[in-house]
Amino acid sequence: MMLIPISYLNAYVYCPRRFYLECVRGMYEDNVYTLEGREMHRRVDDPGKQAVPLRKEDRIHRRSVWWSSERLGVTGRLDLLEEDGTGCLYPVEYKKGKAPKGRDPWLNDQIQLCAQALLMAENGLPLPPAGYLYFVGSRKRVEVRITEELCAQTREVIAACRALLDEDTLPPAVDNRNRCFGCSLLPLCLPEEEEVLAGHKTNARRILAQRLDQQSVYVDRLGARVSLSQGMLQVWAPGEERLGEASLEQLQELVLIGPVQVTTQVLHECCRREIPVHYLTLYGRYLGTTAPAFSRHSLLRRAQWQRHFDPERSNEIARDIVMSKLTSARTLAMRYLRDERSEEDVQAFRQIKDLIRRCRDCSDTEGLRGLEGMGTRHYFQCFPRFIKPRLRETFQFQGRVRRPPDNAVNALLSFGYAILAKDCMGAAARVGFDPYCGFYHVMKYGRPALALDIMEYFRQPIVDSAVLGAINNGVFTLRDFMAYQGTCYLSEKGRKKFLAQYEMRKKDHVSHPVFGYRLSYERMIELQLRILGKYLLGDLDKYVGFHIR
Ligand code: SF4
Repeated sequence: MMLIPISYLNAYVYCPRRFYLECVRGMYEDNVYTLEGREMHRRVDDPGKQAVPLRKEDRIHRRSVWWSSERLGVTGRLDLLEEDGTGCLYPVEYKKGKAPKGRDPWLNDQIQLCAQALLMAENGLPLPPAGYLYFVGSRKRVEVRITEELCAQTREVIAACRALLDEDTLPPAVDNRNRCFGCSLLPLCLPEEEEVLAGHKTNARRILAQRLDQQSVYVDRLGARVSLSQGMLQVWAPGEERLGEASLEQLQELVLIGPVQVTTQVLHECCRREIPVHYLTLYGRYLGTTAPAFSRHSLLRRAQWQRHFDPERSNEIARDIVMSKLTSARTLAMRYLRDERSEEDVQAFRQIKDLIRRCRDCSDTEGLRGLEGMGTRHYFQCFPRFIKPRLRETFQFQGRVRRPPDNAVNALLSFGYAILAKDCMGAAARVGFDPYCGFYHVMKYGRPALALDIMEYFRQPIVDSAVLGAINNGVFTLRDFMAYQGTCYLSEKGRKKFLAQYEMRKKDHVSHPVFGYRLSYERMIELQLRILGKYLLGDLDKYVGFHIR
């Protein structure tokens, strides 16, 4: 029998859906409150003090005492078990906030404490008449009486949790929506978005921004070395000149381009902190990632694989990908050619629109690929005129050439798409997907098909826009590129310039076409994957993709 950790009882009383997501689906996400709480418990549950009796004044303390009960069906760790001078034992649960004023503590905290008291009784100790919640924020203890009524309520909660363990359907979102805005699972749960897609609302309230101060670190100096010293990542040039450093606390990902050395200590620490380390060739080809242990979200991967092998339903996702991509391409083309539209351009816009319409009735993925190919050709036909007239001579572009890129514009696009693929790959793995199992791109050895699927939503809005913006603003000159045997690629300086532009673009905010709120492109990629996940798990009846309007 699976024993339910008592902290999950607290989650259930806060919101049954929260319990389900954490305990049944194994989904977890930190926010500032959970990080603070974990740090506090890390200190409280110091392994050195575990269950070691410590006399303090007239009391005996045992920290981090772990008990389970098959009969109750729960397991849990008591932050503190205290014995007063009279031999009476009682549990003390640490909470990071301030003690409540003029009201009882929240019911979820009382239930958690009562479950600890019941665990004590199940393990041969007398049921304590009271327990204490210790609020670190105000350094105050609040007594909670372990009444018969509270015990009955706690047993009811345990029974309700056990019943949910066997459920396949996600419980409804909590009625009191204010609770959602303090809940760390909000970016995974997406209750507002669910209501919009069900037609109950027109706009969703924006999900909370997270990891605002986090950064990606790119290292592309030939022969550079990345090491670790006192929680700081340090980058050294071959002659041991220090090139820079970054705090691990703020590191979102580490990207190593070309022959860069990295120490085992860095890799261990990145895995421990769930920070991915990506490897790219000098030309920007994605080689792989050192990622933390595989996501626990096996239910999501099962749903992903099941959908992958169902061609009809898989085609629904592929169709949305192609339609969204062509919509963004058309919008971007119309924006860039607002003041300079030839009859040919107008024709191309019409044709893309017609192809989008044809996608709606296209029932096979092969057909969709054909339509996408035609639409992309129309888009790239207009592309040379997205560049300002005075720069067209320098940055010539006759069409998309990928392997290998033959000029500066193609080199920038290829490098940009490789970096975007790396970002989509990282986001897919973080959300819990298998990045190699997609719906539109054919599965092939070594091809991250799902990452490439998601990337289709963001090629034009992120990469093409970053490339065109940088060229038109005079960021690049031809000295930022090198040519070798018909291949054009970015120099080290050129790569640096591009990465700065790309990171800036990722931080730009854009309105979601359906939910209405604004989010950075970086978060939009993650949101798209979350929506896909919810759709695959059956939490949403409708799937929607991102496009620019
Ligand atoms: S976001 Fe709201 S509905 Fe979802 S788990 Fe959290 S509290 Fe419950």
